[in-house]
Amino acid sequence: MTVICVAHLYPDYLNIYADRGNIAVLSRRAAWRGLELAVQAIEPGDLVEPGAFDLFYVGGGQDREQALVAADLAAKGEALRAAVSAGAALLAVCGGYQLLGRFYRDRDGVELPGAGVFPLHTIAGERRMIGDVLLECSLDGEPRTLAGFENHAGRTILDEGAEPLGRVIAGFGNDGESGYEGCRIGRALGTYLHGPLLPRNPWLADWLLAEATAHATGERPAFEPLPDELEATAHDVSAARARARGGRFR
Ligand code: GLN
Repeated sequence: MTVICVAHLYPDYLNIYADRGNIAVLSRRAAWRGLELAVQAIEPGDLVEPGAFDLFYVGGGQDREQALVAADLAAKGEALRAAVSAGAALLAVCGGYQLLGRFYRDRDGVELPGAGVFPLHTIAGERRMIGDVLLECSLDGEPRTLAGFENHAGRTILDEGAEPLGRVIAGFGNDGESGYEGCRIGRALGTYLHGPLLPRNPWLADWLLAEATAHATGERPAFEPLPDELEATAHDVSAARARARGGRFR
């Protein structure tokens, strides 16, 4: 059986809006495909061997929790950049996404160092950007939608030429102005979308699993579709909420 090695960064610090639910979805969908997910928690002080993992995951968190792990994560920057450029897959959500950029400056002006994986920086604004979000996204050339929930003070600015994860159909996205959300570098994805994200966007879970399997085995599998009726309903409900009221300051 193929084993996919997963590094779950700071599960005890960066986990809001049930972000750890994304790991549960990846584990279950992997099992339904005859794959095994071996998940290792990486906490402050733990080392990251660049070649040891096929998939990295980090969730979101309040400024307080981000401040508790930022320096440790920044010190892992070189290993994470090496892993990503060697083709490891990665999903980073909200506060974790911000800390994988160059820095996050919080509302008090305190600058938290980032790991420098994504070509971006984040500066917190006065008003929080809260609500349902709907994106148009085409990771493999086929346009699809991503639906989720955002709650962030941070405004994320992508570097010139950086690739966003998607175009905002409804919601705030990276900064409430650019019309884009998230960032992508090859198999590494960053996003503001909580929910958790993957239960209502199973195609993205399968994309991450396929990319991680390609890293583990050298071959990208073509998964058989699963009976995702419940997931499709969850997606549609979330998408309808985003269209109805996403992207408005509360
Ligand atoms: N603390 C960060 C912000 O407010 C991230 C919040 C989050 O992860 N939801 O922007």
